[in-house]
Amino acid sequence: MHLYVHVPFCQRRCSYCDFSIAVRKRIPAQEFVDAILTEARQTGVVGFETIYFGGGTPSLLPPEAISTLLDELTSLCRTPHAAREVTLEANPEDVTPDAARAWASAGINRVSLGAQSFDDHVLQWMHRSHAAARIGAAVHALRGAGIENISLDLIFALPDELQRDWERDLDLALALRPTHLSLYGLTVEPRTPLDRWISRGATHAPDDERYADEYLLAHERLSVFGYQFYEVSNASLPGFRSRHNSAYWSGRPYVGLGPAAHSFDGTTRRWNLRAWEAYRRAIADGRSAIESEERLTEEQRELERVYLALRTDEGLSITAPYRHLPPLMSQGWVVEHNGRLRCTPEGWLRLDSLVSELTMHTESQQ
Ligand code: SF4
Repeated sequence: MHLYVHVPFCQRRCSYCDFSIAVRKRIPAQEFVDAILTEARQTGVVGFETIYFGGGTPSLLPPEAISTLLDELTSLCRTPHAAREVTLEANPEDVTPDAARAWASAGINRVSLGAQSFDDHVLQWMHRSHAAARIGAAVHALRGAGIENISLDLIFALPDELQRDWERDLDLALALRPTHLSLYGLTVEPRTPLDRWISRGATHAPDDERYADEYLLAHERLSVFGYQFYEVSNASLPGFRSRHNSAYWSGRPYVGLGPAAHSFDGTTRRWNLRAWEAYRRAIADGRSAIESEERLTEEQRELERVYLALRTDEGLSITAPYRHLPPLMSQGWVVEHNGRLRCTPEGWLRLDSLVSELTMHTESQQ
């Protein structure tokens, strides 16, 4: 089993972000801890192999709150044991030597840093609260505290007018030798500041050509330095794949606690109320925080299985009905490897259209 805890608080909203967040100057840490633990008791948590604090900005929680959550969640488990991978998403600004030491002694053994870029002009455009110099300082503070498993998030395919030097950003990230990198192309979500800037002509939507060039450049640079892309957006050094995210991609069950968190038991997906206040009130009133649920049909599960398999380097087993697909290979989007179809970097660039072509192809054969 895998546990996700959504920490919704941020100090401000980044220009591209449409996540479920609560912008707060003062973090209501005690209320948050109480709500999560109450929900955990309602849910009946069991032993977890991985725990992931995502957000939002989990590093805004005081270290004592993180420590209390980890201690209490572990003791609530019917089969308590130390989780093997405990990740905290952190803003580089929040990573001080003291905070890093406190996280390590609370049981955090992996940190995912929202670096995004090493260019201060780009970080300001994104409305990020950290300066580029803070990223290296954060990595050193984490290593100094004994946290070696460090992932950096970077965003690529930014509008042309920013003149972002993607190769420089990749090289600066690689020079820090993180164990893991997550690379996401910028997307324009409705009602974000970025969406409004584009509507009034103040900036341009990201360009497909730039997206493809930068994505393929990342594959090239990272492989030279020994990283392997094991999922469409994620690469790691050997032995440092994210166990938690790998569980999502292989369709394993997980429990999510906190506002907007999703849970999946293998057939049904449930999700919590999105807004922090609505979630907090529901829990305080003794009601369930679940907003809705969806039971997947056989067809949906199969489509999801195909999609998830092709997202990763595990690939899709070439069994019926996916046996007659060599035409897809001639386009260079997939290759056959040990009886499985695996996406090439060019295939990952077209993952959605590839999955629909694959499923159409199999439907037409049935
Ligand atoms: S820090 Fe992350 S969750 Fe918060 S606003 Fe920025 S992108 Fe969104």
